[in-house]
Amino acid sequence: MICEPKHCTGCGACANCCPTGCITMQPDEKGFLYPQIDETACIQCNLCRKTCPALAADGLYHAPNEHCYAAFNQDEQIRKISSSGGVFSAVADLIFQQDGIVFGAAFDEHFKVLHRYADRQTGVAAFRGSKYLQSEIGNSYQDCKQFLEQGRQVVFTGTPCQIAGLRKYLKKEYPNLLTIDFLCHGVPSYAVVRKYLDDFEKKYKSKIVSFSFRDKEHGHQWAHSCAVKATLQNGKTVASKYETLYFWKSFLDNIYLRDCCYDCQYTGIRRVSDLTIGDFWGIGEEIPFAYSTADGVSFLMINTERGQRCIEKCRLTIQQRTLEEAVKNNLTLQTSFPASANRERFFQNYKTTNFYKLVTSFHKKDMMIWHIKIFVNNLLGDKIYRALKKISGRKL
Ligand SMILES: Cc1cc2nc3c(=O)[nH]c(=O)nc-3n(C[C@H](O)[C@H](O)[C@H](O)COP(=O)(O)OP(=O)(O)OC[C@H]3O[C@@H](n4cnc5c(N)ncnc54)[C@H](O)[C@@H]3O)c2cc1C
Repeated sequence: MICEPKHCTGCGACANCCPTGCITMQPDEKGFLYPQIDETACIQCNLCRKTCPALAADGLYHAPNEHCYAAFNQDEQIRKISSSGGVFSAVADLIFQQDGIVFGAAFDEHFKVLHRYADRQTGVAAFRGSKYLQSEIGNSYQDCKQFLEQGRQVVFTGTPCQIAGLRKYLKKEYPNLLTIDFLCHGVPSYAVVRKYLDDFEKKYKSKIVSFSFRDKEHGHQWAHSCAVKATLQNGKTVASKYETLYFWKSFLDNIYLRDCCYDCQYTGIRRVSDLTIGDFWGIGEEIPFAYSTADGVSFLMINTERGQRCIEKCRLTIQQRTLEEAVKNNLTLQTSFPASANRERFFQNYKTTNFYKLVTSFHKKDMMIWHIKIFVNNLLGDKIYRALKKISGRKL
C-alpha cells in the first residue's frame, strides 16, 4: 500500500515514477484504478511514497485566488462544440502556434478515457468535451517530462488531482509547462459508465458510434442542461432530455464517484494549476452579463503569472466577475460532496442489474416528477417554461 485507499486519487504518479516499473494501475470491484505493487520486483526505494500527492501535496498549492472571470472563445464554432465556453481550445490554439504539445483526455473506441498528447489542431478535437469518468493517465507524466526536457512548450490538462500527480512526479518547476485543471465534481469509473453504455445499446438496439455527455444542439442550451447525445451504428441519434435523467441525476446525486472524491483536497479557491476552468453556471441571472450565454460561458481563474501571460494572448472574450457569484452556483469551488446513501446499494448491484432500473429505484418518485417536467417543458418550449418557473419562484 502506498497511501490509504480512501485517499488514493488514482493519479498514477507512483506508477510513472517507479524505477523498476513494478507498479501497475489495476481496477478494483467498483472499476477504479489503484496501484498494485509486484513485491518481487520492488527494490524498496520508497520513491512511490515520496511522490504520492495524497501523502504530501502542501507545496503544490498556489496562493488563494480573489478574482475570477467569465470567458468564452471568440470562435463561435469552437465555443459551440466545447463543453463550456471553449477556454481549453483557445489555450491549445496558442500553444500550437508555438509548436507546442497539448495533453488531454480522449475516448478510445470502447469509450474508455485515456490521457494522450497532440501536437496539432487535428489531434486536439478528441480532447474537447467533458468525459464524466476518470481518465487513465498511462505514461503521460513520463511523456510530458520528455517534451519539457526537449524545451518544447507543453500544456497539460486534467483533473486537479492529476495535475498534482504530474507536478509531484516532475519534482521541479519547468518554465515551459502550463497546467490547466477544472472545477471537478468527482469522477465515476469506466466500469460504471461502460455498464450504462451497454444498457443504453440494449435499450436502443444498436451500438454507440459516438457519445457526448454535453450536447449543446437539439434545443439543449448550455445554461439549462447537461444533455447526453449518442450516434448509433444504425444511423439514429439519441439526444432526448428523458435519456439525460439517468446518468446525470445519479452522477449529481453522488452515487458512483471515486472514494477520495467525497473528501477531495483540491476543491476550493486554492489551486494546484496555472489556470482553472469550469462552467460559469448562473451567470447573468442576478448580475447582468452583456453577452449571450446560449453557447456556453466558462469560469476562469488565473492562478499564476504564467497563466496570466497565456490568457492575455488567447482569443478569448473575458470579463472579471466576483467569486461570490461563481460559488453560488458551483459549490465545487467551496467543498466536495458527501456520498449518497444509495452508493453501497448501487455498487452491490450495478454489474447484475440494468442501469436504468437501478438508478430509477433510487429516485422512484422524483423520476416521475422529472418526466412530467420535461413533458411540460417540451410542450411549452424553453422560454415560456422558464418564465413560468421564474414567476412561480422555483429553481430548476
Ligand atoms: C469529471 C468532470 C467533472 C467536472 N465537474 C465540474 C463541476 O463540478 N463544475 C464545473 O464548473 N465544471 C466541471 N467540469 C468541467 C467542465 O465540464 C468543462 O470540462 C470545463 O469547463 C472545460 O470546458 P471547455 O469548454 O474549456 O473545454 P472543452 O473543450 O470541452 O475541453 C474539455 C477539457 O477537459 C479535459 N477532460 C475532459 N474529460 C476529462 C476527464 N475525464 N479527465 C481529465 N480531463 C478531461 C480535456 O482534455 C479538455 O482539456 C467537470 C469536468 C469533468 C471531466
